[in-house]
Amino acid sequence: MFRQRLAQVEDRIEKAAARSGRLRRDVTLIAVTKTFPAVSIIEAYEAGLRDFGENYVQEFDQKLPLLSHLTEARFHLIGHLQSNKSRKASDLFQTIQTIDDQKLARRLNEHRTPDQVLDVMLEIKLAEEESKHGVAPEAAGALVDAVRSQPNLRLLGLMTIPPWTTDAEASRPYFVRLRELGEKLGTSALSMGMSNDFEVAIEEGATHIRVGTALFGSRKRP
Ligand SMILES: *Cc1c(COP(=O)(O)O)cnc(C)c1O
Repeated sequence: MFRQRLAQVEDRIEKAAARSGRLRRDVTLIAVTKTFPAVSIIEAYEAGLRDFGENYVQEFDQKLPLLSHLTEARFHLIGHLQSNKSRKASDLFQTIQTIDDQKLARRLNEHRTPDQVLDVMLEIKLAEEESKHGVAPEAAGALVDAVRSQPNLRLLGLMTIPPWTTDAEASRPYFVRLRELGEKLGTSALSMGMSNDFEVAIEEGATHIRVGTALFGSRKRP
């Protein structure tokens, strides 16, 4: 079941990359495993996936002891991070994609050392939705400077979550804006695109797509 879904996702990625003159290897597929048990991560790893996205520090803290044999796995925090959980998050994750303020950046920097640099992305809020976190595009430049001045953080790029829609084309303007913002700020990674719209994201330059439902099926409501 998982391998069939993975094959379908891979086919969609390859076609989108080919359409837009991009290489498959320039797009990292992040398997989003929130609400799924550790065995789902192990199954995905055995099928060849190496990048995993989790939303909740505490949920992932419970799974990680079961995953220590997955030596090549990279775990990305893609959910909002409260600064009081920053130490735990720094212990658990290789990449934190949801930096949205300077205080959080400084805290994470304190938990690392120059030979244990933490990879980070800035979460950009492109739509005015109350439930969404992220830094406003106008404030992103100052946050980029603040993150770059922290010796123990490495800024990979930007991530965003457009308003949820079943119409993938509705996400395109957000993906375009994230790419343009990245060009302006001189960052390279673009984490954008989920099960419903990742082909459009790839067409617009996504370097990381975050895919849950298309790989694992629908989640039970928490
Ligand atoms: C849950 C989640 C995803 C995956 O969404 P699907 O629609 O299941 O692919 C991607 N990114 C973030 C930030 C998420 O919270």
